Amino acid sequence: MCRHLGWLGKPRSLAELILEPPHSLLVQSYAPLRQRHGLLNADGWGAGFFDVSGSDKPRRWRSAAPLWGDASFASVAPALSSHCVVAAVRSATVGMPIEASATAPFTDGIWLLSHNGVVDTAVLPASRGAESVCDSALLAAAIFERGVDSLGEVITEIGSGDPQARLNILAANGSRMLATTWGDTLSMLHGADGVVLASEPYDDDPRWVDIPDRHLVDTHDGEVRVTALDVSR
Ligand code: GLN
Repeated sequence: MCRHLGWLGKPRSLAELILEPPHSLLVQSYAPLRQRHGLLNADGWGAGFFDVSGSDKPRRWRSAAPLWGDASFASVAPALSSHCVVAAVRSATVGMPIEASATAPFTDGIWLLSHNGVVDTAVLPASRGAESVCDSALLAAAIFERGVDSLGEVITEIGSGDPQARLNILAANGSRMLATTWGDTLSMLHGADGVVLASEPYDDDPRWVDIPDRHLVDTHDGEVRVTALDVSR
């Protein structure tokens, strides 16, 4: 399992979100607290964000090296600010390639998307345009093809095809952020300035809430809806 983090709200720097909190994604890359699969997240990292300047094109910075060794990102991250961020640190599933293109966030040019988990790629519908043969990249391509707006439905279908799958997804498009819980942890911090969704809380703020398993979180315009996924199908 990897660890991911999303932000939707007032602009914040990537350093403030990813590097500076006491239990930041950076710390989670070598000492995660709630990770059930894998010991550390050393197989790469990615930070995606939307420009505050008004362009709706997502920007990404990804690497197949550990986040803790990236002095360039540490130097530049305080100067990169965004209202909408999706970042991840990766623990590659056995057999998956270790390369920047297999590292979240994935994109279709509109959405940024990260996956914590594993899926049998045989149950995924054939889709074109995957960035890598990694299961998460194929899953992202399948979700993009069906439409991220129907994320809950797509995850329920894929999860019923592969009962062993773990399908925690985090996706954002600059004005909306969606996440699922399916086999791994997710917490939310809903503050006055915006919403953080993260595989694990990055500090001890008492407002963090844990999202129960098999749920969908949908946030836009300062509103958050958490609904149970329909697992009866
Ligand atoms: N299966 C994905 C990969 O290999 C994600 C792994 C994870 O969540 N640790 O990258």
